Amino acid sequence: MKLILASNNEHKLIEIRQILGAHFGEILSMREAGIEHETVEDGSTFMENALKKAREVAEISGCCALADDSGLCVDALDGAPGIYSARFAGEHGDDEANRQRLLELMRDKTDRGAHFTCAMALVWPDGRTVTAEGYVYGEITREKRGSNGFGYDPLFLIPELGCTTAEMEPEAKNAVSHRAAALHALVKKL
Ligand code: IMP
Repeated sequence: MKLILASNNEHKLIEIRQILGAHFGEILSMREAGIEHETVEDGSTFMENALKKAREVAEISGCCALADDSGLCVDALDGAPGIYSARFAGEHGDDEANRQRLLELMRDKTDRGAHFTCAMALVWPDGRTVTAEGYVYGEITREKRGSNGFGYDPLFLIPELGCTTAEMEPEAKNAVSHRAAALHALVKKL
């Protein structure tokens, strides 16, 4: 069966192809499937947003659709930035401004605990749905470390590994990421 990924993010496509490739005949990004659509992400949880995206793309394409929504949850900030991770400092996708805001808010905090969450929703055109969540736990650093990855990676330390997710090679990060955990949980359910 054909699977449409409700995203045009190349990194996600590669990761998803690796993990879900055995379950679907063909996995296409929206661009590859010729679909132009922007979901309004107005849900109050990661899962609500993932479900909304997957449902819309399943309906438009008539194919099975997979969507994810992810973000960083910081303990000392009561789970912020959470679903607002991409626009924490105001403008959507300004990673540098988002990181500066986080460093600023965390300056006096001794509790540095945080986790990335990923919600995945797989929706068939007839409405059947399978969902899963994945997490990766770590700590917020006091300054940026590393230049790989994106978003909050330079500020997210995995203590057991002794490095931030921006100091890891992409393959190593993918092996422990919240997205990989959610995808593996989804495969188990499938
Ligand atoms: P999205 O679900 O891919 O749109 O991610 C939303 C936001 O969460 C991104 O803009 C990043 O700020 C943050 N984020 C999600 N996953 C990661 C990650 O693996 N590393 C760093 N930041 C992430």
